[in-house]
Amino acid sequence: MSSTSNHPAVRLQQISNHIATKKDTGMNKSADRILVEDDNLDHEYLPILGSNEFRFASAKLILGANSKAIAEGRVGAAQCISGTGAVYTGAHFLSKHYPIKGAACYISKPTWANHRAIFEGVGIPVLEYPYWDAATKGLDLKGMLSCMQSAPNGSIFLLHPCAHNPTGVDPTPEQWRQIADVMEAKGHFTFFDCAYQGFASGSLTKDAFSVRYFVDRGFELFVAQSFSKNFGLYSERAGNLTIVAKTPAVKNRIESQIAKAQRAVISNPPAYGSRIVSVVLNNEKLYSEWETNLASMANRIIDMRKALYDELVRLGTPGKWNHIVDQIGMFSFTGLTTPQVKVLKEKYHVYLTDNGRISMAGLNSQNVKYFAQAVDYVVRN
Ligand code: PLP
Repeated sequence: MSSTSNHPAVRLQQISNHIATKKDTGMNKSADRILVEDDNLDHEYLPILGSNEFRFASAKLILGANSKAIAEGRVGAAQCISGTGAVYTGAHFLSKHYPIKGAACYISKPTWANHRAIFEGVGIPVLEYPYWDAATKGLDLKGMLSCMQSAPNGSIFLLHPCAHNPTGVDPTPEQWRQIADVMEAKGHFTFFDCAYQGFASGSLTKDAFSVRYFVDRGFELFVAQSFSKNFGLYSERAGNLTIVAKTPAVKNRIESQIAKAQRAVISNPPAYGSRIVSVVLNNEKLYSEWETNLASMANRIIDMRKALYDELVRLGTPGKWNHIVDQIGMFSFTGLTTPQVKVLKEKYHVYLTDNGRISMAGLNSQNVKYFAQAVDYVVRN
């Protein structure tokens, strides 16, 4: 028989203790310590829809503490396997219960690669709406709106509320108003995928503008939320699907169908990451520390954009580079071509995706000049 200290639960506790006692004052570590010191904490199953503290704090985070929809009891939530699982859970529900049979899901061109795989995987046809305008290196609003106009009534549109992946191009509040007008007129269903709340502008409120605006206008919608990036909880798979329905009765029916489906796929969501998130979201001091951390990360990225832009202008690198500072969030679509990316990799050992997307988080004051020089070389040669 194995000794008690080898029991997985004991081992997990030892790992947690180890993490929590490391001299780190980070906000996640403070939450870790609170969890480790909680004598009531165990490894029992969570409910099928997840921890109530977690899912309702998540819904409040995206919809706002004063959300009318929450007060009216028509907001539901399901804890999922991170952002990916939340998109999957919503997509799976739509594949079974969306009233318009054969309705397609429109995803932005380009988008996070998994969107197509998830929707096609549950049997929903996938089409694309124009998003990136290669000429302006900005939003193709006209193309996007005209696609929404010509799509069959009641289509599903997958929208990124902030820090669009991979382009870093977000609609302005005025553009969101125009998007909402067409979505409403056509009776399209809005599915927001929010993987970067707090990362775009540094403000959790500003980054939730589009979602709150749609909800204020009376849309029924889904929001997939990921805590991988804004909590640095990548491996813990903490995510949530927020459901905004017309009435509490509809919300209850959606939640119960989602619970039924979730039971068959994962039975119960994982606890640890969601506990860290709910400790922080439900603790005033830790919440405000988290907000400060997010703002400093977002501002560092904004500073790097400015430094890269300034350096390219100083070098006189051919082309316009204002998109570097106009884009937002972790990613930037540089406009570099696949052959230029190849030279960057081979000659400068700068690695980015073939479509020219860079992670701004990879730039710092030590390497930004080197990167600008490398870009200058590939653009000129
Ligand atoms: N949605 C978008 C737009 C993303 O960019 C990502 C991650 O890159 C995700 C969802 C999924 O995140 P998670 O790791 O939480 O599943």
